[in-house]
Amino acid sequence: MQPYYTVNTPYCPTATACTTYRRNYYYLWQDLRPARSADDELAIKRLALKTGLSFTRARDYCESLERLDTLPKLKHLVETLHHLEFKQLTLIDSVLNKLGATPSSESLARIDTGLADYLTPTQPAQVLPSHENLRRKLNRLVNAELELTQPPHEPPPPHYSAGPVGSNRGEIVAEYDAETTAAMDAAIRKVAKDNNVSPAKALAGVVLGKYGSPRVVLNMFMAQDLPESGGFIDGYGWVDADTADHMAEKSDHQRDMAAAAEKRSSNYQTPEDIKAFLNGRDGCCRYPGCSIPAIRCQKDHCKDFHDGGPTAASNLVNLCQHHHNIKTDGRVTYILDPRTGTVVWLSNDGTWESTSPEGPLSAKNVNWMRTMAQAQHSRRDRAHTKATSPVLENQPLHETFVPQ
Ligand SMILES: [Zn+2]
Repeated sequence: MQPYYTVNTPYCPTATACTTYRRNYYYLWQDLRPARSADDELAIKRLALKTGLSFTRARDYCESLERLDTLPKLKHLVETLHHLEFKQLTLIDSVLNKLGATPSSESLARIDTGLADYLTPTQPAQVLPSHENLRRKLNRLVNAELELTQPPHEPPPPHYSAGPVGSNRGEIVAEYDAETTAAMDAAIRKVAKDNNVSPAKALAGVVLGKYGSPRVVLNMFMAQDLPESGGFIDGYGWVDADTADHMAEKSDHQRDMAAAAEKRSSNYQTPEDIKAFLNGRDGCCRYPGCSIPAIRCQKDHCKDFHDGGPTAASNLVNLCQHHHNIKTDGRVTYILDPRTGTVVWLSNDGTWESTSPEGPLSAKNVNWMRTMAQAQHSRRDRAHTKATSPVLENQPLHETFVPQ
């Protein structure tokens, strides 16, 4: 069976009607958008008045189509599948705006490849990535390009401000480097969970001495043989290569994720190394459309432990509390493909759909990390060539990851 997204389900009247609607609406705006030379302000104001959309939305639609012109692979995909709405196209444009007015053609080409790969279905009845997961993916693609193209600079001193918000509320805003932020966030969430309070109350409690200083462990995923591709801190997100290297130097110990992927435990409770692999594979809750980070999910046995289901990555899936309950209630069941990490969901009404893993260990992210590591390597190689004699290295690339 050919891969397809559920929004393009063949022979389904609802999916077909919606795809036709998206297609017609897309080409309507391709026809409506003003030529680049036209007076944007006036032309878009006229468009807004005629279409009934706000000026901002009309401008966003036009700019997202202009952005799509710079991403030929994605544009071809959109015009083939018609799976994306303007909601997603405007999100893509707004995040790519971080690259500035004139991003390099190399950066755009890598982002184009990364996005087209991310938004191409790989299984039948695949669920389209959620808006939040698409936003995360876009931010990661763009931030990696910024790290690659901007010269290293001294980070600004940590920012801190406090003041009133309204008559009886106050606000504290603080900004730190990625490592400090990740460690503080993990500590605050641990105190919140241990004491059953909100993260904001936990932060106040720690600072004011109500709670002790929690000890937290940060798991970071790094490709062992791709040192220039950065790292992924479980529960926080991607960090640049310098931060990842610095954290790796300070780490207590390393775990081989290739071994954790194959490990079997005789206990019901999932051991820490298998948990780490599951978080690295899944990235978030595997229920269709959910984007709760894996670190805040439960590890669910696909085949029940008491029915002989092993405690192993081949039988475990990340589910948030809410979607774990839906599964436990028997309203849905699922099948896990241990080779690809694909989860196929089966509903009581006979329908089914599949979700792909989103974590740093998923195949699509590994491919992208390899591309970025090669780009980073080439950049450093060019800089080095300028300063000294040429150095050529051809290192083999492996897919073994170690968390710290
Ligand atoms: Zn969920």
